[in-house]
Amino acid sequence: MRVPLLDLKAQYAEIREEVEAAVREVLESQLFRGGPQVDSFEAEMAAYTGCGHATGVASGTDALYLLFRALELKPGEEVITTPFTFFATAAAIVNAGGVPVFADVRPDTLTLDPAAVEALITPRTRAIVPVHLFGHCADMDALLDLGRRHGIPVIEDAAQALGASHSGRRVGSLGWAAAVSFYPTKNLGAAGEGGMVLTNDPALDDKIRLLRCHGARAAYVHEMVGVNSHLPAVQAAVLRVKLRHLDRWNDARRDHARRYTEALEGTDSIVLPVELPGCRHIYHQYVVRIPRRDAAKALFHSERVGCGVFYPVPLHRQACFAAHTEGVSCPVAEKACGEVLALPVYPELTDAQIDTVAALLRRHVGAAD
Ligand SMILES: *Cc1c(COP(=O)(O)O)cnc(C)c1O
Repeated sequence: MRVPLLDLKAQYAEIREEVEAAVREVLESQLFRGGPQVDSFEAEMAAYTGCGHATGVASGTDALYLLFRALELKPGEEVITTPFTFFATAAAIVNAGGVPVFADVRPDTLTLDPAAVEALITPRTRAIVPVHLFGHCADMDALLDLGRRHGIPVIEDAAQALGASHSGRRVGSLGWAAAVSFYPTKNLGAAGEGGMVLTNDPALDDKIRLLRCHGARAAYVHEMVGVNSHLPAVQAAVLRVKLRHLDRWNDARRDHARRYTEALEGTDSIVLPVELPGCRHIYHQYVVRIPRRDAAKALFHSERVGCGVFYPVPLHRQACFAAHTEGVSCPVAEKACGEVLALPVYPELTDAQIDTVAALLRRHVGAAD
């Protein structure tokens, strides 16, 4: 049985009429930049996440970049983050003029380890950036406590975790600010690129709105040098439709994760993803850790079952960050890079498909079916 890693056509088939009507409305209005769709989506996202302010931008990468620009980093100032994340988290720090400092991750959730972060705090540290990896919230209680004690803001990279929560509060509202991505494969994906900055700080939101619009409040009066980074109205219209389905889709992912966990439990060599107490994991990815991972990848490929490796190389081992990472060692992240395998967990997956994937993985580790 063929099982793709993700099937966006299946999702589209379910919401086609709603999406097409929303896009048609924007086309009829010919308002492509700003306008009622963007304003409404920003308000709906603020309400959904429980944030005071939500500002649409062109991508999750830009959301991070604009947040780091808002910090006005001086040469040599540092931002502590995880090496076990998508490249954009650290690239945005560098592009905004900062120094990325990589702290190792916890062995259970593979999210930023607060003890490792604390050991790296210096007078130059300007922000701590946890990533809610694969849809599971980072260790926010400890990280927020660290931030409070040292007077350092915590910025959430919530690109993979929209709809996840921590102690009943949605991610994106937990720290000083958060970045969200609407990349098409994210749990809430646009028909193209998009991103958003969330915050409860009105002064920060004001600055982000200036930065995204070439630093201009009024036309041709530029208070600062910013960028041109907007969420297009067509994307806002599509995302408004999809936001109404997000909780149901995330619930379906959670159901699939439960079925995988039941099917894979009891094998000594498969490390399953965990959901810590108080966290609602929304399984952007369902990631196991296994021996001989690359052989498993080849087996999946030959059986036409999708899988993914997120991430094969930790960021402190990327050549482009070499100037910042001499002598840096993050053994937990390094080990995870050789073991992780993401299984298909998209909402439209059938039980039969899940059982096929689980049986294949059990075959790889030599467990009885
Ligand atoms: C996807 C992603 C980003 C970047 O978002 P884009 O919208 O693709 O620019 C940043 N951080 C993490 C953790 C991501 O998964």
